[in-house]
Amino acid sequence: MEVDRFLSSGSSGNETQYENRLRPQGFSEYIGQKKVVENILVMVESANIRKQAMDHCLLSGPPGLGKTSLAMIIAQSLGSELHLISGPAIEKKGDLAAILTNIQPRDVLFIDEIHRMHISVEEILYSAMEDFRLDIVLGQGPSARTMQIDVAPFTLIGATTKSGLLSNPLRTRFMGNLHFDYYKTEELAQIVENNAEKLEIDIDPEARTHIARCSRGTPRIANRVLRRVRDFALVDGADRICEKQVLKSLDLMEIDECGLDRMDRKILQVMEEYYGGGPVGIEALCATLGEERSTIEDVFEPFLLKEGFITRTPRGRELSQKGLDHLQSQQL
Ligand code: ADP
Repeated sequence: MEVDRFLSSGSSGNETQYENRLRPQGFSEYIGQKKVVENILVMVESANIRKQAMDHCLLSGPPGLGKTSLAMIIAQSLGSELHLISGPAIEKKGDLAAILTNIQPRDVLFIDEIHRMHISVEEILYSAMEDFRLDIVLGQGPSARTMQIDVAPFTLIGATTKSGLLSNPLRTRFMGNLHFDYYKTEELAQIVENNAEKLEIDIDPEARTHIARCSRGTPRIANRVLRRVRDFALVDGADRICEKQVLKSLDLMEIDECGLDRMDRKILQVMEEYYGGGPVGIEALCATLGEERSTIEDVFEPFLLKEGFITRTPRGRELSQKGLDHLQSQQL
């Protein structure tokens, strides 16, 4: 599998190594997201029967829910190469053209954070997706000419945390538009059990359920907690993970019983202390927190909204009664 230089380096080498080790290796290991998987299975099977490229599809949902893992499984099931790139890392049209002209028939091009791709780069994707052709404009003004280059029939898988920000011409070129939901506790507990096996450590059922409950419905977080708990167990000289070690690790990681971490609680606290519970505009909130708007909107807010700790109104974000109660219970 080729991992291009355009892949964002959000996680360290060690993180990436662990992430790859714990990735599901096929559809049978891919837990949950039933509707998404059902749709993808049909698309893959049809492409294999037709012996053509699979249709382009868009995977949307919060980070850590399995979009990259699914793209890897798709490429594997098609028997083709996966090219992984990050949208914002492609700065020039020529960079994307170079990638596309190196692609083999039926290969999969995975573009992460596709909503953050530069518009001029995005534009050359349109004809590549629709007609497997690149229209390159040479020169400027009246003497400008368009050169056409053929591209091998390929599948574009776009991943986004914000499908609403995708331009219309790009969105309508995807045949499949699939949304990822947060995982249920039982599904996460199953993922924890499978991954404990990959890390070669036994884990009690209560311990897996506890990790699953505190992982914000997100497999990447469940993996992170599991690795910390495994470290604890090893240092304790234990040969299996029990609930006591989970509690200790969560306490050290400052994750509470609802799965909220320090940043989540800080968001609730700032809303209460600085803005009297809101409504507060996202810009003001981010300025007070000293955080990027995209980090708050993509990483933290979706779960706080889903669990009802905060609400969104036309006038801004508001702390809910549940959010206030949670804050107060933490201060006791
Ligand atoms: P995303 O691309 O949406 O940010 P990833 O595919 O990188 O998420 O998933 C992060 C980690 O979570 C993977 O390394 C994998 O271990 C785990 N994971 C995600 N989805 C699943 C799933 N459906 N079944 C099993 N493990 C999963």
